[in-house]
Parts: sequence; C-alpha cells; structure tokens
Amino acid sequence: MKSEGSKLQDQLFYSPKHACELLSPEQVKAADDFCVDYMAFLNAAKTEREAVSTVLGQIKQAGYQPFDPKKTYSAGDRVYLNNRDKAVILAVIGSQPIEEGVRIAAAHIDSPRLDLKPNPLYEDSQMALFKTHYYGGIKKYQWPAMPLSLHGVVIKGDGEKVTVNIGEEPGDPVFCVTDLLPHLAGDQMKRTLNEGVKGEELNILIGSRPFLDDDASEKVKLNIMSILHEKYGIVEKDFLSAELEAVPAYPARDVGFDRSMIGSYGQDDRVCAYTAFKATLDCRKVPSKTVVTILTDKEETGSDGNTGLNSAYLKYFIADLAATFGVEGRTVLSHSACLSADVNAAFDPTFPEVNEKRNAAYVNKGVVVTKYTGARGKSGTSDASAEFMGSVRRILEKNDVIWQTGELGKVDQGGGGTVAQYIANLNVDVVDVGVPVLSMHSPFEVVSKLDTYMAYRAFLSFFND
Ligand code: MN
Ligand code: MN
Repeated sequence: MKSEGSKLQDQLFYSPKHACELLSPEQVKAADDFCVDYMAFLNAAKTEREAVSTVLGQIKQAGYQPFDPKKTYSAGDRVYLNNRDKAVILAVIGSQPIEEGVRIAAAHIDSPRLDLKPNPLYEDSQMALFKTHYYGGIKKYQWPAMPLSLHGVVIKGDGEKVTVNIGEEPGDPVFCVTDLLPHLAGDQMKRTLNEGVKGEELNILIGSRPFLDDDASEKVKLNIMSILHEKYGIVEKDFLSAELEAVPAYPARDVGFDRSMIGSYGQDDRVCAYTAFKATLDCRKVPSKTVVTILTDKEETGSDGNTGLNSAYLKYFIADLAATFGVEGRTVLSHSACLSADVNAAFDPTFPEVNEKRNAAYVNKGVVVTKYTGARGKSGTSDASAEFMGSVRRILEKNDVIWQTGELGKVDQGGGGTVAQYIANLNVDVVDVGVPVLSMHSPFEVVSKLDTYMAYRAFLSFFND
C-alpha cells in the first residue's frame, strides 16, 4: 500500500525512468531487431557521399522519383532531391494543403574525420605518407595507432569520376597515423592534451617498399603512385581534384555483456539520419502534412557551403515544391514545424563534472529533446518556444515514445550547435530531437539501442501526427 505522500510524488514529480522499466520484453526485442539494420547502415555509409548513395539505393525501390519543379504532385507522391551527391531531401506529399506547412526532420550525414590535403602524397625516410587536414571537432590524440580506411572520389583530368573505398573489406589493406612509443615520448607527454598530437602530425602511413630502378628518385612514393595508377588510373595531379576521407576501418559492434549498446564511428549523426530516414520510409502512405526529411552535409564544420543547411538549398526546394501547388515558399515555411534530428551528449559517470545532473541526458532514458544548445548565455542557438516544446511533448506522449530532456553540458562548460538555428531562421518552429551519445566525436561513439529505437518512434509519430 503506497503512502499518501508517495502517491502524491508519483502524481506531481518528474522522474525519468530507464526505458527497460517502461517497455515490454517484446518492445525491447523490437528495438534490438531495429538496430541490426541500423548497424548495417553505419558500415555501408561512413561518409556523407556513401550515406547519400545508400539512401538513394533504398528509396528507388520505395517508389521515390527525382523532384521535378515542372511536374504537379498529389497526396502520397514521393520525391527526392540529390544535392551534389552529398546531401539529399526526401518528401512525401500529404493530404492537407501545402500552405498549412510541412513536417521537417533534418539530420546530418557528415562526421569528424581526416581529409587528405589537396597535395597529400610524400616520401620521407623511405616511407610514403599522406598529409591530412582534420574535418570537424576532433580530439587529435584519439586518431593515431588505429586502422583507417579511405573513402571518397577522385576527378581525373578528363573529368572521369573514380570512387574510392578501401580498408573496409576483410582482405583490404588499412592505413594508420603512427604515434611515439612511450619510451621516447617524454617531451610529447609534457604537451597539453590538445597539443598531444598536433594537426600536422596526423600523417597517414600508406607504404614502405621502393619501385626498383637505379635512376628514379622518391622510389617509395613512385611505387605507391604506380599502384594507384594501375588500380584507379590516376596520376598525382588528380589528388588536386579529389575528396578523400580517412575514417576508422572497423565495423559497428554490440557493446556490453547485455548487448544493450552500439559502438561505432560516425553515429553523430547517422543515428538520427538513419532513424529519420526509416521513419520517412515507414510513415503513412498519405500523411496529413507533407513530410520533408533532409540528410545534410557540413554540419560538423558549421553548416556553411552549398551542401550545408546554412545555404539556400532547403529554402529553394520548399519554394519549388510550393510553386508546383501555386503557393509561395515563405507561406509554407512560416507554417512548418521541424525536428532538428541531432545527437546530444549522454551523461558519462567517468566525467560527471561537465554536466548538471538534473538537466543532462542519460543513456537508456529515451530520445532526448534539447530545447536549446549554444554557448554562454544561449548564444548561437534556436531556443524552442514553450508552445512548440508543448506540441512536440504531446505528440511523443500520445504515441508512448519514451523521451527525456537534455542540455549540452552545464552552464559555461562549453557548448555547441546544430542545424536547428538555420532552419529556425527560415521562420520554422524547430527543436532538437535525437539520441544521447557517449564519447561523441571520437572514433568509437556509443549509443543505446533503446534510445535509437525511440528516436525512430519519435520521428514516425511526428510524421504520422
Ligand atoms: Mn551532430
Ligand atoms: Mn557533431
């Protein structure tokens, strides 16, 4: 028999619970099953280009057609827009007039990594290496001494595009950044952690045998170029018109004796990209509001550039789609709602001091709704209104989606941003909704399977509402 006080506590207090305490064993199994395909996606889509090609491969079977501004569309039609093979927009036309607004989910498919410099290849001490320039926010010391794979494209002098993906198959060679042995690292160990490995020390080892010839110089480099020429038909100058990205070479794995978590490279933000994408595929055949899902590039470098959400490509797409119905784009945007689908930092018991416990997101407490990100006095963020928080909360609770709230660290600890502000600046109601992540931006990010499933359920509920 519960006391009067504990009954009152149940009624009045907010106390988020572990998802396992709220879900049936069948629901937990459904979440685990859902994550099998998610892990396959992580392995197939390690870069923004691979994410786009994986998504395009799957949507063509689902009846999506390339968006054509000259066509007319009706409820239930499914279209997509491929932005330069690095970002993609999917839309499902709803039954309500488009001037009443669309339902947007926006996730990013780029992740921190090591990009090759434009002129990357050199030989030193009879070893061949690639110079790199890191992309996004990384802790540089995390990148040496582990296997790396190489992904991307090379545009040859004649315009031919060569796709590169090496280091992922079991028989493939891998590459690595080397680190000093502890015996000789006395000086290095006195550096700050930030400088422990410097940007110009992130050089990738790619070969060590010379081309056998008496006259040639830089014979190890020559041997590598000769292998690359044979395999891809490229010459050294072709690196100038290439985008090659080094990422961790290992696949996604179950984490924990209970297999409750997933460890992988690139879960920020493919965990939200995949769940938003799946929800788009699985939403009602004819949703009431038109569904628009954006998988964007360049979030990790601040969303600038024509494949990032600080460019006009979303605005133009909405305007073009609106025009097919004889409506102004700004009318559609002004009535639209968006879940900015991005991850948040999960509370880490090893580093509790960076969070404020009552407002941190926790692994296994469900999808996290982040009212604002930013830094200092909420600078550089879109702070979702109480009204919009309320409407998202009602959708989640009506559909039994387990959710929690989260701040990005305690006040003045640091901060960060998402694409939310760029979409909000188009006069759209926006809030961040995503999955809590441990070791975010590291080569092995960890999420909970239950939270991942709840993110999918959250996007699906938003689209079907
Ligand atoms: Mn992110
Ligand atoms: Mn990030």
